Amino acid sequence: MSFLDQLAELRARATAALAESVHDLPSLQAWERQFLGGRGELTALLRGIGSVPAEERPEAGREANALKRELTAHYEAREAELATADLAQRLESDAVDVTLPGRRSPLGTVHPVWKMIDEVSQIFALMGFETVFGPEVEIGRYNFDLLNIPSDHPARDVWDTIIVESDREEIVLRTHTSPMQARIMEQREPPVRVIVPGRTYRYEAQDASHEWMFTQIEGLAVDENIKMTDLKGVLQEMARQLFGPNRRIRFRCDFFPFVEPGVDFAVDCAICDGKGCRVCKQTGWLEMGGAGMVHPRVLQGVGYDPERYTGFAFGLGVERLVMMKYGVNDLRAFAGNDLRFLRQFAAATI
Ligand SMILES: [Zn+2]
Repeated sequence: MSFLDQLAELRARATAALAESVHDLPSLQAWERQFLGGRGELTALLRGIGSVPAEERPEAGREANALKRELTAHYEAREAELATADLAQRLESDAVDVTLPGRRSPLGTVHPVWKMIDEVSQIFALMGFETVFGPEVEIGRYNFDLLNIPSDHPARDVWDTIIVESDREEIVLRTHTSPMQARIMEQREPPVRVIVPGRTYRYEAQDASHEWMFTQIEGLAVDENIKMTDLKGVLQEMARQLFGPNRRIRFRCDFFPFVEPGVDFAVDCAICDGKGCRVCKQTGWLEMGGAGMVHPRVLQGVGYDPERYTGFAFGLGVERLVMMKYGVNDLRAFAGNDLRFLRQFAAATI
């Protein structure tokens, strides 16, 4: 068979094979390998062109190249066709029925304790207080010593402290947010106005009003001429913002080693307007926390001159604020991981 006849035969077979056996991209690839590729039949035929008589060789070369272009054009056209079909098929099989209702992703919400912290932080921000955070694992020096609680002081026994084992120094889970008083004062010169929200820990048996982990907000203001009336005004403003414009604040003497004088403070019950009800246990008052004027020894301990500067400090139980505002009757609910409890606060703007 002459070279030209072999080309004609190859053209006929390749064209027929394209029509009969190529129906998708893989079979098109196989076709390309068989006829056009580096090891394909056309390439093999071209290698034999040297044996064609010299006078016929130019035409044989032209014809062979023409066939190569022709088959390449067939290949590209078919490939484009199949790619479009393939895309159409994938679009069809992957089709999303947009008329189906969507699946709602479960959305988390801010924990009621942290909602309350945000609210209280905003109230104090308007009175010039910055919100700062401190370590939950604390050195005894900050948790006790710098707060006028020496190692032999009876108050050190009042809190059953969770101790972190350490060879070098006393390390505890902080029993209150007060250590940040000393840390902040060590870092700054007066005026100081901060609130410190955060978790605190005490080794306590749990019941409806006691938890081994709870949340406090510490407040501290130190400057020249700070008086007890400033403390009362600030706490009263907070109570009115949280519980309504008619709320009143009550101070009663109390003892905390790091304040002198010390008080516990209560707000009159918003539910019965101070007349006495179940929530306030018929007293008309709801206890909110402890407060007082910063003890001169605490000021001295951080290098402040107690002759020049005075200050007040207070500590609030955050869970207690939420309990008062929403009538929650069990402290354990806050860390109890019961979503039915937490979801009730999802829509609440505290
Ligand atoms: Zn009441």
